[in-house]
Amino acid sequence: LTALSTRMSKVAPSATLAVDSKAKALQAAGVDVIGYGAGEPNFPTPQDIVAVAVAAAQDPANYRYTPTAGLLALKKAIAAKTLRDSGYEVDPAQIVVTNGGKQAVYETFQVLISEGDEVIIPAPYWTSYPEAVKLADGTPVAVFAGAEQHFIPTIEALEAARTEHTKALVLNTPTNPTGAVWPESLLVEIGQWALKHHIWIISDEIYEHLTYDGVTAPHIGALVPQIREQLIVLNGVAKTYAMTGWRVGWMIAPLVVAKAASTLQGHLTSNVNNIAQQAARAALEGSLEAVDAMRQAFDVRRKAIVSALNDMQGVHCPTPTGAFYAFADVRELLGKPLGPSGTVSETSADLAAALLDEAHIAAVPGEAFGAPGYLRFSYALADDALVEGMRRMKTWVEA
Ligand code: PLP
Repeated sequence: LTALSTRMSKVAPSATLAVDSKAKALQAAGVDVIGYGAGEPNFPTPQDIVAVAVAAAQDPANYRYTPTAGLLALKKAIAAKTLRDSGYEVDPAQIVVTNGGKQAVYETFQVLISEGDEVIIPAPYWTSYPEAVKLADGTPVAVFAGAEQHFIPTIEALEAARTEHTKALVLNTPTNPTGAVWPESLLVEIGQWALKHHIWIISDEIYEHLTYDGVTAPHIGALVPQIREQLIVLNGVAKTYAMTGWRVGWMIAPLVVAKAASTLQGHLTSNVNNIAQQAARAALEGSLEAVDAMRQAFDVRRKAIVSALNDMQGVHCPTPTGAFYAFADVRELLGKPLGPSGTVSETSADLAAALLDEAHIAAVPGEAFGAPGYLRFSYALADDALVEGMRRMKTWVEA
């Protein structure tokens, strides 16, 4: 008796969630683990947003389904926010409010991709993109750029990966897992290339407000206005407003794509939780003051973690200018005895397991992001924990 479909045999579990759950299991067993695994801010959701949700939960008018694609008021707030942050107008009818940015990613590939279509995914990439492409019967095509290139590919490398089957390119800048922010000039080149070759651009802008050193996140829809006819923007409130658990994201797409995604969602989940939509609306209509305070706190941690990593023998970490991840090159640590018991790790996955078991710190191995030889450290954790975890790692690595 076969239990699972062929579809599921193609898909790997989320490696980032796996590390996090192993770390949490150790914690539950009484081990003091420092977790750099989860991509979620440790701050509480700003209280003014929570207050709106509390009031909404007390109003019976909000106990019903909303339209599948979301409350009109929220879609208007998303359109206004897009004008404010990206500098161009979108029609609320182009917006589908989804259960987190993740559902927007999934639905995008479901409505865009057919069997045999290829999707170019610059690597290191967020772990869910290739799996979502495979779930849509498409073929992910990774284009790798390492630390030497600050994890930013060239247009020539993207062009070399293009075939007659290329249907779309994924853009995610600021990038998870590297924190890289791509230059505007490259986005302009990519936009022109995509127009010339009729390639859809899927731009995941979920980290747009988390940038440092005076760098700002580029928006391809603003830089290359013609691309908007073949552009799908993905976004959400999780990272910007410390609202990971509220599960509100969205896509902005040409009408035909947005309608198809809404049809799909109508059979999948229907609308996103009504109360959470009201909270997201409050977040988007509010000021960015709380966001800026969180960004400044992340900036302090960013500097601390990058310098701590580079201070360890055999570890090299380029300085990221966005998101809340440091992506360290640990290739020099592989194949050598490390730690008090001389554990030899042949791969970054082995190294991550050894660090968790022996030094009690959780980082996600590069294998999860199409980048073996690296480890991802989320620095969205408390300052003192961040410092203590780095101390443990240095002691272990240099034992
Ligand atoms: N896109 C990227 C690049 C991410 O890192 C994440 C979360 O880790 C998401 C999308 C999805 O975020 P959520 O579903 O929590 O809104």
